[in-house]
Amino acid sequence: MKARILIIEDNEQNLYMETFLLEKYGYEVVGARDGREGLELAARVKPALIVLDIQLPLMDGHEIARRLKTSPETRDIPIVAVTSYAMNKDREQILASGCEGYMEKPINPETFVSELAQHLPTSPPNGDEP
Ligand code: MN
Repeated sequence: MKARILIIEDNEQNLYMETFLLEKYGYEVVGARDGREGLELAARVKPALIVLDIQLPLMDGHEIARRLKTSPETRDIPIVAVTSYAMNKDREQILASGCEGYMEKPINPETFVSELAQHLPTSPPNGDEP
């Protein structure tokens, strides 16, 4: 089994697509629909990477990233934000809140997994065509 990845995403279609793509490459995926669930799962399942939506109920992705990065349990887990906000201000905020990477929605199914894999401490996907 390859690395475990936590996706925090409230949009079912996005969660489904991102999960589908990652599982296709053999990753184990855990999904959360809001920040409370996401923070709880991050501490419990210790994912190798977190895919983080920014616009979420309860608390936004910036707040989630700040909390993940201030907890000793989760601070070393790389976070890649995935958001439809395309403005530079948001990108700066995302990086300032502690995320290692940034991807824009809609995600590109051709490159989604390989872009994420760049932030994984473990082995990248083998690049096989589906
Ligand atoms: Mn959202």
